[in-house]
Amino acid sequence: MEELVPVVCPWCSVGCRLYIVSVNGHPRKIEWDYDHPNTPNRGKLCPKGVASYQFTISPDRLKKPLIKRNGKFEEVSWEEAIRYVAQKFKEIIEEDGPEALAFLGSERCSLEDNYVLQKLARALGTNNVEFAGRLCQSSNFVARSKVFGSPAQTNPFDDIVKSKVILVWGYNPAETNPVLFGQYFEKALDNGAKMIVVDPIKTKTAKFADIHLQPYPGTDLAVALAMLNHIIKNELYDKKFVEERTDNFEELAKSVEEYTPEWAEKVSGVPAEMIKRAAELLATGGNATIVLNEGVNQHANGTMTALAIANLIAITGNIGKEGVFSGVIPGAHCGLCAAVPGVNCAQLPGPVPLNEENAKKFSELWGFDVPRKPGLHYQAIFKAMAEGKVKGIFIMGQNPARSLANSSLIEEALEKAFVVVSDIFPTETTKFADVILPAASWYEKTGTVITQNRRVMRSFKAIKPPGEAKPDWEILVMLARELGVGEYFNYSSVDDILREINRAIPALKGATPERLNSNLEGCFYPCPDEESETPRLFLKGFPTKTGRAQLTPVKWVQPGEVPDEEYPLWLTNFRQVGHFHTGTMSMRSKSLIKRWPESFLMINPEDAKALGIRDGDRVRVETRRGSLVVRAMVTDRIRKGVVAMPWHWGVNFLTKDDAIDEFSKMPELKAVACRVTKE
Ligand code: SF4
Repeated sequence: MEELVPVVCPWCSVGCRLYIVSVNGHPRKIEWDYDHPNTPNRGKLCPKGVASYQFTISPDRLKKPLIKRNGKFEEVSWEEAIRYVAQKFKEIIEEDGPEALAFLGSERCSLEDNYVLQKLARALGTNNVEFAGRLCQSSNFVARSKVFGSPAQTNPFDDIVKSKVILVWGYNPAETNPVLFGQYFEKALDNGAKMIVVDPIKTKTAKFADIHLQPYPGTDLAVALAMLNHIIKNELYDKKFVEERTDNFEELAKSVEEYTPEWAEKVSGVPAEMIKRAAELLATGGNATIVLNEGVNQHANGTMTALAIANLIAITGNIGKEGVFSGVIPGAHCGLCAAVPGVNCAQLPGPVPLNEENAKKFSELWGFDVPRKPGLHYQAIFKAMAEGKVKGIFIMGQNPARSLANSSLIEEALEKAFVVVSDIFPTETTKFADVILPAASWYEKTGTVITQNRRVMRSFKAIKPPGEAKPDWEILVMLARELGVGEYFNYSSVDDILREINRAIPALKGATPERLNSNLEGCFYPCPDEESETPRLFLKGFPTKTGRAQLTPVKWVQPGEVPDEEYPLWLTNFRQVGHFHTGTMSMRSKSLIKRWPESFLMINPEDAKALGIRDGDRVRVETRRGSLVVRAMVTDRIRKGVVAMPWHWGVNFLTKDDAIDEFSKMPELKAVACRVTKE
């Protein structure tokens, strides 16, 4: 019998509402909702959304639990697999304590999956629990928390259309969030808005720009400091907003005195006059949308750049009102499903800081003593693993062997530990696993998702999981019982978990199963009761000590690595519309891998000529960490002195693990020195 089941597209943080048409639990096609507020695209859908069920029917799906014995994986029963994992974890705890264990959650999993994962880590006595948000959004998270008292995105997407200026920084929404770009950004431009894009690459988004600034990778901070300098020096800031709603303006002004546009030109390669024009447009052009992404965040100076941008948002008065919009919009699935339930080594569900008061509160709610000592951040977990300090890890829906900086070091670390991976496919990481547990995919389970504009929605089980695959939360509950902490995980359905989340996180109190199951549009959180929601934040003040935005002094910080004689080019990376993360799902989706089949290197015609490289040649891209061979794409879409690769094909073998942002712990993923030679 044909069924039409409402789901949420799992491929990016916009969260379009889709329907899976299935027959007896087998998917046939995708339909979409022409009227849902998150899918107001009237008949258009991006290629990833249309293809979004194809990977679920791949023959590669994991169907049975596997244990590695004598170097080979053997199929075993669930009981045997869980007993084996529990026994190994107990041995590790007995010999080295709970901090020798680590847990990785995933933005690819539901709010409930992630909530149960972090609770299990804490029930066992460790805060070593992280997810990939550390590698994409953490710099902006730290910066906005400091300036606005909260990292949250402020307004509904509809407010983008009402903006007069759009500043897009290190982000390519036309490629990574195509429905959002077409439906909101382009409509604003049609209404006369002007757009500034900051990106070393002439992206699809940059083609729409009135001003395109192309800094060298990792020097965005210089541009942001100079924009602050120009706006403050020429008194172009919003004086009323600064006076009434911010603190520390004088300190901020003093901190940027030396960073003139002329100085920034020398550092970033962006002409001073263009920086001034961009600053003037932002300050005087009217209500603005200011969005940023990995191009800002994924640097060793990412927090300082995000702080400078948060200051720009505040002094131009583009927050706390209707018709403006600011924040990060991930090109991948929204990290809020893992960030909000506290999958973070220093935060508990909310998220709230891991401090005595909050640890006590959660100890009372959960019935066990929450460990007080902060855990290790993502990259540090693997460093500790390489040193033999972390001996066991549970990895839920992550592929750190490809996603972390300097991936070959991560592989060496994984070799040394007892590794359990719960996933839907074999990945580069499962090669290092001792146990692989087959998980149900997004469309094969019911779960809650939080999209990037804080909309909380339910996605429903539309397809039968293959073989014996199970939802992650069920796997974790089985493991908790075998580990002797089952009494704290008394859930028989995903609704039971959401009800506990309603009690644990005041901002989600009103996002009850009853509300989300019956209302497909969901609600904007904070929703302190079932009747309320909050589409716009900070209308009356900021959640800071004074209720005012805390302008924060900023300073220049070098990127983690700069070109030199040996490695004379900057290497950066970008996302493609047809791929998701390390490609474990999108590269198994027929229509996507056919259109986006391989990696390549974008190189400027002048650099290519100097190196004797022609379009289509095979070239070796080499950094101090390793090398990859790909085809060259000779194009003026990239500026001279910079080369760029899509990151889905293992580009992190080349990136730098030992240059880390001191505040966000983000490794330098987007700017490293390289050399290119013809093969
Ligand atoms: Fe899915 Fe994002 Fe495309 Fe919407 S825009 S269909 S959520 S990938």
